[in-house]
Amino acid sequence: MTPLIFAATCDLAGKVRGKAFPVSDLSRRLERGVGWTPTNVQINCFDGIADSPFGALGDLLLVPDEGTKVDLEFATRTERFILGDIVTLDGQPWDFCTRSLLRSALNRLKEVAGVKLLAAFEHEFQIKSKSGLAGEGFGRSGFEHQRDLCESIIAQISAAGLKPDSIMKEYGPEQYEVVIGPELGIRAADAAVMVREITRSTARFLNEEATFTPLRDPNSVGNGVHIHMSFLDLEGNPKTYDAAGDCGMSEITSAFSAGILKYLDSIIAFTAPSVISYLRLTPHRWSAAYNNLGFLDREASLRICPTTVKDPLEKERQFNIEYRAADASACPHLALAAIVHAGVQGIEDGLTAPKPSEEDLSLLSADELGNRGFIRLPETLEDALERMRTNPILSKWFPDNFLPVYLSHKTSEISHLANMDDGDRCELYERTY
Ligand code: GLU
Ligand code: MG
Repeated sequence: MTPLIFAATCDLAGKVRGKAFPVSDLSRRLERGVGWTPTNVQINCFDGIADSPFGALGDLLLVPDEGTKVDLEFATRTERFILGDIVTLDGQPWDFCTRSLLRSALNRLKEVAGVKLLAAFEHEFQIKSKSGLAGEGFGRSGFEHQRDLCESIIAQISAAGLKPDSIMKEYGPEQYEVVIGPELGIRAADAAVMVREITRSTARFLNEEATFTPLRDPNSVGNGVHIHMSFLDLEGNPKTYDAAGDCGMSEITSAFSAGILKYLDSIIAFTAPSVISYLRLTPHRWSAAYNNLGFLDREASLRICPTTVKDPLEKERQFNIEYRAADASACPHLALAAIVHAGVQGIEDGLTAPKPSEEDLSLLSADELGNRGFIRLPETLEDALERMRTNPILSKWFPDNFLPVYLSHKTSEISHLANMDDGDRCELYERTY
């Protein structure tokens, strides 16, 4: 057998797609890439192909990035993959390459605010086989039931050069959560893709199947992706915390948060981009239903997180904000690019974060919500896409043709599910994510 490595992009559908070649060719491929087809960007998560401006025309290169190589060494097999950038034949970033889109959002952050982003993605997932255990939210038996899986996932995360933080039996049936430490810039989104793929592969090797779908059952618990963010200046000093700021937020953090909250309804189609994402984003699911800031509050779409140290210097490093309106049907690069653009817009516009909400917003009428500056976030993917389409500022953040292509991609996904009930939709999504 010839050992192969799979070179991949995480695309608009949040799927990891690519091509394999002999590992022995890697150094040549790091220079020359592998051929890639423009219309692939319109393959939706159900393998339908949305309207594509490219048709059968054009050619691109998928160029692997050496720093993202993952070797999953299992007892009887090795799985290797590597992430890369999609570039044009003359080596320019392609407008629909999700890594390039994130890179340009991060460059904008650096230019506007002089800071770099540190981010960590927390992932919840579920194992498809029934354990037969009940009452095991955060339970030890629930954890022991999948100890081998958890230990293998953590070992693979370390072997991939990432920093494992913790892993646990989450609240929902057969639900687990894996947390890694923060990574700088684009690597944070690469790491999120790696964690998903490591978890899927490791589960498969142990004859299990892991799903990151936003919601398996309309009446049960969702799988969230929570994105923790903090800032470093160009010398590496923390810039997120200020003891004198509201809830400890520095000026940058406050303006960045205000930007996210202001544009949240227009970017949510990037961070919660499936049809069933909106079944999860409802009140009392500890997800996100309003554009509210929370101080240690898990019903907020943006949460100021606790610090667990007394040392002031460590506190400055630990302080972070958490975006909770995301799930794993989103490409991490695209989700983070949209969040960063919204945040930077808040910095450019000199916004200040609102006071954290401290009540159950679902009890307020639309008028009361409005008076306090809150909105109910979109309740369907169609509505989320409409807000994206009609917010003129978004077209300034992305290349010219990008939003129309994304909209048509997502429209084809919606059509695929027409006339199905929520249960059937959930079933389809859990097969693809
Ligand atoms: N499962 C919840 C979600 O869908 C999150 C629970 C938690 O706070 O960890 O986002
Ligand atoms: Mg959780």
